[in-house]
Amino acid sequence: MNRSKRISVWGATGSIGTQTLDFIGRYPDRFQAVTLTCHTRVDLLLEQAERFHPETVVLTGSPGTPGWERSFRSCGARLLLGKEGLLEAAGSGKEDLVVNALVGSVGLEATLRAVRAGVSIALANKEVLVMAGELVMSEIARAGVSLFPIDSEHSAVFQCLQGERMETVRRILLTASGGPFRDWKVADLPRATVEQALAHPNWSMGKKVTVDSATLMNKGLEVIEARWLFGMDPDRVSVVIHPQSIIHSMVEFADGSVKAQMGVPDMRIPIAYALTYPDRWNAGAAGLDFFACDRLTFLSPDREKYPALDLAYEALRKGGTAPAVLNAADEVAVDLFLSKRIPFTRIAELIRSVLHGHEPVPRPDLDSILAADRWARDTLSHDTIHRS
Ligand code: NAD
Ligand code: MG
Repeated sequence: MNRSKRISVWGATGSIGTQTLDFIGRYPDRFQAVTLTCHTRVDLLLEQAERFHPETVVLTGSPGTPGWERSFRSCGARLLLGKEGLLEAAGSGKEDLVVNALVGSVGLEATLRAVRAGVSIALANKEVLVMAGELVMSEIARAGVSLFPIDSEHSAVFQCLQGERMETVRRILLTASGGPFRDWKVADLPRATVEQALAHPNWSMGKKVTVDSATLMNKGLEVIEARWLFGMDPDRVSVVIHPQSIIHSMVEFADGSVKAQMGVPDMRIPIAYALTYPDRWNAGAAGLDFFACDRLTFLSPDREKYPALDLAYEALRKGGTAPAVLNAADEVAVDLFLSKRIPFTRIAELIRSVLHGHEPVPRPDLDSILAADRWARDTLSHDTIHRS
């Protein structure tokens, strides 16, 4: 029998991280945990360390409870701290595959370290490709490692492309549920509360991606992600609102044929595919009951209701550092909304003003990308402080 696959899970305590460990836990003889990381949920990380016996655990934030280091000593794992600790573990090259389930821009440098150390990546942390798609894809090609998408739409496209030649692809159709405000009037959106934005109709996810799903910025980020993952120019990536979230995305080919990947909305399916590709193992997800699906419907996204979607296309067409600026502005604006400092509709307005104030640097290296990210954050905090 083959040796077990050595896997690290970054962001192990989050929505994707816990579902990844749920899958790994079903096959204890076939996977071995190497590194687990979390930001602040130290109790859960400790519980995971006791169950999965990783070689290293990384705590990037400060848990705020005294004496927590002592509990880790007893579980036998090496403990690393802070962003430096994450980067050290990332560059160790000790695993076959890293599951990057971090949220936001923090995962970029660590991903590049792992790739350079010859490790393949299963990517949930879409912000990595949004910020630095060109750079990351070229490093991946140079290192000869693989990149497996975990985002359900990209996993769907990846599955539809199996056995196909890219030259025969006419376009990619990314599906979007439309989020909790799909049936709202545009005029009512300024009154949308945090609680309403967090009540996603079909998926249970972390807060940032849930708010991004309500603005449709999540789909915008996914268009950028698809551009780099599949080498597809923006005009050939379309977005379709599909409220039932049964079709996870589609590919249309030169002969007019369209392939769709379907299933219940359960992230364990794309997570499992990324971990077992090209095989398929049971992840505990239910099959699809076609007779219980009332109907499958499709709508064109309302650009007035979802201005963030066009901002993402604009950033992608501008290229260079523009998507990194879009991403950083979105992170700050979503945080401001979650802390109830700005109304829902201000998220896209703030992103637009930062994006339009930026002169993109073409073909940026890591330093230029990180500088653009910092510039966007500083500009936005400065702007907001002056307006409030
Ligand atoms: P989450 O908020 O539930 O979890 C995030 C994880 O990252 C946690 O373990 C947290 O400890 C860690 N983290 C947070 N801030 C950090 C920081 N500054 N430094 C280091 N670690 C930090 O998020 P999630 O919903 O699991 O999403 C993770 C990624 O996957 C996001 O990029 C999201 O867009 C993408 N994604 C999520 C889903 C989903 O169903 N949840 C679906 C598709 C894509
Ligand atoms: Mg998605």
